[in-house]
Amino acid sequence: MCGAERNSFTLRRNPADAKSCCVVNQVNVRDAHLSCNRSTTPRFAVLPCLRARIIGLLEFKDGDRDSRVLRGFPDWQTSPYVLPYAAGTSHLVDQANCSPAGNGHRGTARYGYDFLMPIGTRVTAARGGVVVLLEESHFDGEIAATGKDNYLYMVHDDGTGALYGHFTNQGIAVDSGQTVLPGMLLGFSGNTGNTANKPHLHLSVFKCNPVTLGSAACPTAPFTFRNTDPNPQGLQRGQTYAAH
Ligand SMILES: [Zn+2]
Repeated sequence: MCGAERNSFTLRRNPADAKSCCVVNQVNVRDAHLSCNRSTTPRFAVLPCLRARIIGLLEFKDGDRDSRVLRGFPDWQTSPYVLPYAAGTSHLVDQANCSPAGNGHRGTARYGYDFLMPIGTRVTAARGGVVVLLEESHFDGEIAATGKDNYLYMVHDDGTGALYGHFTNQGIAVDSGQTVLPGMLLGFSGNTGNTANKPHLHLSVFKCNPVTLGSAACPTAPFTFRNTDPNPQGLQRGQTYAAH
């Protein structure tokens, strides 16, 4: 669930996040682009234009917010990512991309997944990389919008990175600076930080490094998984996914 998770994990706070999930929800993207090209574009149209270009294309059907479709997902069958838990196990996706108002996967944090799992579940690397930052000092049940998350941030070989969140106390099994391979044990899940008191693992991916650049400059990116059911639009909220 993650509550207002956009501000957790000690990433730099972006005040604009509070307003911006799928924000283009009020904007017809095609019209916005047309407006951008008009020399007589009213000033008020500029922000929606920029925002639409920055966040990418979104589509809504008949004004139904739940039917919106996020775009830009890489081909799932050739995805570099596997589910972050052991083959043969399954977990429910409690929050996926661009969650409803009041939840955390919105704004610059709108691409991400929450996998419900009991405290102590083995969390494995969805992709290989180098661990660059971790926090594991907090205790299960320490719930807060910011500052209480146990997490791990990893950089991949192409400069993208992944954030794994809400580990249990002293629950990270790798060290900062360590190179990890896909499927390797990263640690044990927990219920720390902005979890809405639901034990789960949060996973999101970034095309650049939000630790150094800030979450405003480095928003979450869409990603898919190759070792589970077809997920061309990413994993879906409310569905259970088995790792093969
Ligand atoms: Zn989350």
